[in-house]
Amino acid sequence: MVQIPHPVESGDFTREVVWAAAAPPLAEPVTVAEGILWLRLALPFKLDHINLWLLDDGDGWTLVDTGYGDARTSAIWDGLLAAGKFAGKPLARILVTHFHPDHLGQAGRLCRRFDLPLFMTRTEWLTGRMLQLDVSEEFIAAGIAQDRRAGLSPELLERRRDRGNAYRPGVTPVPASIEILEAGDAFVAGGTRWEVMVGRGHSPEMVTLFSRERNILIGGDQLLPRITPVVGLWPTSPERDPLGVFVASIDQYDALPEDVLVLPSHERPYRGLKVRLAQLRAHHRARLDETEALCRVPTTAAQVMAGLFPKDLDLHQLGFALAETLAHLVALERAGRVVRHRRADGVEIWQSTGRAG
Ligand SMILES: [Zn+2]
Repeated sequence: MVQIPHPVESGDFTREVVWAAAAPPLAEPVTVAEGILWLRLALPFKLDHINLWLLDDGDGWTLVDTGYGDARTSAIWDGLLAAGKFAGKPLARILVTHFHPDHLGQAGRLCRRFDLPLFMTRTEWLTGRMLQLDVSEEFIAAGIAQDRRAGLSPELLERRRDRGNAYRPGVTPVPASIEILEAGDAFVAGGTRWEVMVGRGHSPEMVTLFSRERNILIGGDQLLPRITPVVGLWPTSPERDPLGVFVASIDQYDALPEDVLVLPSHERPYRGLKVRLAQLRAHHRARLDETEALCRVPTTAAQVMAGLFPKDLDLHQLGFALAETLAHLVALERAGRVVRHRRADGVEIWQSTGRAG
């Protein structure tokens, strides 16, 4: 455990997002605020790291998020714990913000090994546990059906089918029992009281934690400083309009202090939440306009995706790009800005109505 020598805080956070700390090396816990450790772990993706937080409960730690569920990350955890990297104190409980593999991946393994309670919202737990257990043909079929409607090429359909359930390898078996968190709950950890604020759209019921006393927000993936969280329509998702839900869900953070320290799940801690909220809203407005412009002529979701995203996407990125494209199309449809019809071959065709946004 090392102290960050020089917090980086320059510039005006009322005009731009300002970094509040320098990034420590991977797998090297550092103190980011009194009683809060910041642990960066590697991810096997283009987004190459995740931030975990450890809240000091005196005789143990509350761990917030856990890292990807692969063997490499398991080995890193084993090494950290064997070396007593957390001031020699054990993990006491785990809170997972949402079901995505980089957050939930190691939770089951750590909970079983140390007999720890796991705190999650009901929907995140149900979704993670369901997807981790799902080896059904129907699961694959639901994805293929969505891909077909979107007009993906036969070659891509084939490759996506072969991939199977891509969620399972990234998540160790999810515990069969948890402690439920709900919006508005008080969660006491790290010597302070955190208000549970539930973010939606990126995942169904993500926990974010706000301490008024400490003026700190643990923001999960909801309020990333520079990249925007994927907001996608997934074949197994219960959300009809994820983008509308996401945009509505971030309004709750307007009420927080302007100088709140945000601890996001990726990149670095920052100040400038209000600026970031404005940027997120502007980004999605512009993205909706772009999507609509691509529908001036009748088009498939696959063609819209090609216009919105660079062409050289790997299979992992393609899944996100397609889900995000569909979320934007569905949001435009609800606003009356595009309509869709199904071609005889089952592929959906989207077209702008010319109605302004
Ligand atoms: Zn996520």
